[in-house]
Amino acid sequence: MRQLYEQVQVDEGRMRFYAECDISGKRIYSKKLPVVCRIKDLLVPMDEGSVGGFKQSMYNHRKADAIQDLARFFNQCRKCGKWVCDEMYDPQLMECTRCVAAAEQE
Ligand SMILES: [Zn+2]
Repeated sequence: MRQLYEQVQVDEGRMRFYAECDISGKRIYSKKLPVVCRIKDLLVPMDEGSVGGFKQSMYNHRKADAIQDLARFFNQCRKCGKWVCDEMYDPQLMECTRCVAAAEQE
């Protein structure tokens, strides 16, 4: 099953980590990148973990924080595995609204 960290990305304009709801596309922002990591050309290599050194460890720490932070706003559907925001999730059934709607049509 897909993990939330695979969905956490960096907004280049805002230099912030974010994740998007798989259904609504709603973007939830988390922490900003550390100042030393706000270098556009390094964003992809840092995300791949290939920069090394001080910058890489700063980036990794901040990303780990951001994932923990974002995990509070997302729920994983036990049926399809999508990560969705609270509005797109039924906590009683532990399924996303799309799966709930599909089950009702059956
Ligand atoms: Zn689902």
